[in-house]
Amino acid sequence: MKCENIIAKMKTKILKNSKKSILYAAELLKKGDTIALPTETVYGLAGRYDNNKTIEKIFSIKNRPLNNPFIIHYSSSDLALADIYFDSRAEILAKKFWPGPLTLVAKVKNKKISKLALSGLETVAVRVPSNKIILSIIEHVNIPLAAPSANRYGKLSPTSAKDVYEELNGKISTIYDGGSTNIGVESTVVDISKKETAVLRYGGIDESLINDLTNLKRKKIVSKKFLSPGLSKSHYKPNTPLRINASYPKKNEGWLAFGKKPKNFKGIILSLSKKKCLKESAKNLYKMLRLLDKKDITTIAVQKIPKRGIGLAINDRLERAAYNSKFKNE
Ligand code: AMP
Ligand code: MG
Repeated sequence: MKCENIIAKMKTKILKNSKKSILYAAELLKKGDTIALPTETVYGLAGRYDNNKTIEKIFSIKNRPLNNPFIIHYSSSDLALADIYFDSRAEILAKKFWPGPLTLVAKVKNKKISKLALSGLETVAVRVPSNKIILSIIEHVNIPLAAPSANRYGKLSPTSAKDVYEELNGKISTIYDGGSTNIGVESTVVDISKKETAVLRYGGIDESLINDLTNLKRKKIVSKKFLSPGLSKSHYKPNTPLRINASYPKKNEGWLAFGKKPKNFKGIILSLSKKKCLKESAKNLYKMLRLLDKKDITTIAVQKIPKRGIGLAINDRLERAAYNSKFKNE
């Protein structure tokens, strides 16, 4: 089910980073506004976690189905852990990865969190971001923020203020410009609400690091066993069709390389990382897909990327972006 559109067109302002802007953004959020903020993963569309009207507005602006719950962002591990029922797994993971691109799903303890933000579930997804701007804003609001990615549902996630402007211009009052995001793909979502630990979404943290943590060694991590609500097979889509796991570009295609650019190809080429660095590729992924999406090409062909480390998250996003594409991906 989707929310009906309740958003009137408005002028969208872009805030430059300053102490004054931090205080201004915090004031807007306190009053119940929804504004776009930088995180280290992608830009988020943030609002207070305890205000149903604000949460409803976020669903509506994004055109996001109501069964797709939001991640709640906190300014400290203590505050995030205080809102969930947890065991030693949460303590170990929080100590190692927070602040950072890890989201923990656990049984919810805090009754103040909007039921709408949780899609009526008894679990909540919590995270402490490492981006200094959003951390400082949450501290000033002094209320945790629900913040899904600041894009229209199903589209590419934004990694700069300009991307957010392209996605949501006229639909939100304010975009906080914190430059390009460092990690470039969303957080790793780990479910600790059950006995078995499950990675629900690959993301900014290498799954093997989570696996290696002493306490978790004995408990096998079950990837993708429990499907996350709202995790759709088709997502993160550019408008141009995508051909993934490609070995060479064809005529009239745009080529997204992993490594050096092919010598004899005359068409449009970008490289995720000339040095074949997976972290650099993740940082460039959405940005380059957006750039290629604006070119006059039939298809975006993406070179095969190794399925290890953050490469798992890159492949996950590309597979969803190419879902139902007309190509039998190589
Ligand atoms: P986004 O806000 O776009 O980064 O997406 C957040 C993702 O977190 C959702 O698509 C869900 O898959 C996941 N998520 C949020 N809350 C829960 C929850 N209570 N249980 C499982 N997954 C969740
Ligand atoms: Mg998203």
